[in-house]
Amino acid sequence: MKYQRPKGTADILPNEATQWAAVESLAREVFKKYRYQEMRTPMFESFDVFSRTSGETSDIVTKEMYDFFDKGNRHITLRPEGTAGIVRAYVENKLYGPEIQKPFKTFYMGPMFRYERPQSGRLRQFHQIGVEAFGSDSPALDVEVVTLAMALLQSVGLNSLKLSLNTLGDNESRQNYRQALIAYLEPHEAELSADSKERLHKNPLRVLDSKDANDQKIVADAPSILDYLTPAATEHFTQVKEYLDALNIPYEVDSNMVRGLDYYNHTIFEVMSDSKAFGGKWTTVCAGGRYNGLVEQLGGPETPGVGFGLGVERLLLILAAEGIDLNEQHDLDVYVVGIGAETNAASLKLVQALRQQGFSADRDYLDKKPKGQFKAASKANAAYTLTIGQEELEQHKANLKNMANGHQEAIDLEQIYTDFGQAEAILAEKEN
Ligand code: ATP
Ligand code: MG
Repeated sequence: MKYQRPKGTADILPNEATQWAAVESLAREVFKKYRYQEMRTPMFESFDVFSRTSGETSDIVTKEMYDFFDKGNRHITLRPEGTAGIVRAYVENKLYGPEIQKPFKTFYMGPMFRYERPQSGRLRQFHQIGVEAFGSDSPALDVEVVTLAMALLQSVGLNSLKLSLNTLGDNESRQNYRQALIAYLEPHEAELSADSKERLHKNPLRVLDSKDANDQKIVADAPSILDYLTPAATEHFTQVKEYLDALNIPYEVDSNMVRGLDYYNHTIFEVMSDSKAFGGKWTTVCAGGRYNGLVEQLGGPETPGVGFGLGVERLLLILAAEGIDLNEQHDLDVYVVGIGAETNAASLKLVQALRQQGFSADRDYLDKKPKGQFKAASKANAAYTLTIGQEELEQHKANLKNMANGHQEAIDLEQIYTDFGQAEAILAEKEN
């Protein structure tokens, strides 16, 4: 074939695009509840925006930048991640100003670009949905951001992902740990991968993040950052853990976890999946943390920040492996089956009452026989049918049937008119 899409990119065809759109719209609903507002920043930025912030020894800066000089000889990069661009815009547009509510909470979604070796769940153009919250150092905000990540994943039907948590402490904690880590790694220097040798003295924390299997063996016994935290950093981390406990959000502390970007401090986290989509290998879907200092680095006033980025392609791979089709949900809650012309008024009253209570409801308008009406209900993928005939009419009842399991129960019409949710509960009770 003559023309092919560039390596590491994907065409999202109509049958997949509906799933993408569903993920994005569910995410928007969650962001609305948490009061995060959208920002759209350029897909390319000055090279410096990322080279300054990601860290000169990071994968992104050392190998993955899509950078070029434009016709005006400006050094430009296709954005490899969302945070630095948002922070650049936050500073440039003075969103830290006194008239703007704090914390300033924002989200973004869109394509990111990294020159990677393409494989499943690793592309050169991929997509992230991310959030940032600026202007509060409270550990409660760290926890809100973690909760938001979990809520986002729950909204698409994923409830059993692992939350991995760590802290990188403050500058002082990091400096102390850095020394200890170098001291531990130096005797192993000859065995380390070329990348890690290079990083050992420049940025030893990077070595902990190495994907090289032998490096991973070596760092397994490395000292833990948790032993080098200042009292203030310990306090921050303790509170984060307490608040997560208070919310009953399970997590595992992984003291060897660092992030691929240099700007993090204090809380960092990853949400991981061992889905068969990744051959059962634990894979990060969503990652983030606190980045106090980043706003100053890009020329703004001292402003703490915390956020995360979620990989949409990886999320969709899990949904596919789990057989979750977000567009296949019940589009109809109740189909009202009316038997005989004399039930017409009652059927109309029922669909009307259900709709007013926020349920989707429909009925027959073609004088179909009951069998035809049940067929229509199945075709519309109704969760329930509600049948009313002469006998039910006289008894002021209707027959509620759960289409998934066939269980049914006669329910008072009055009950349905006032609170269908309660009618559902009565049937569920009966099923047990
Ligand atoms: P990895 O260690 O897998 O390279 P990373 O640390 O580089 O990940 P982040 O920069 O933290 O990843 O990005 C957050 C999320 O974005 C990742 O957890 C992943 O879901 C997604 N992501 C990152 N790079 C890619 C890529 N090249 N293709 C698809 N998704 C990606
Ligand atoms: Mg990477």
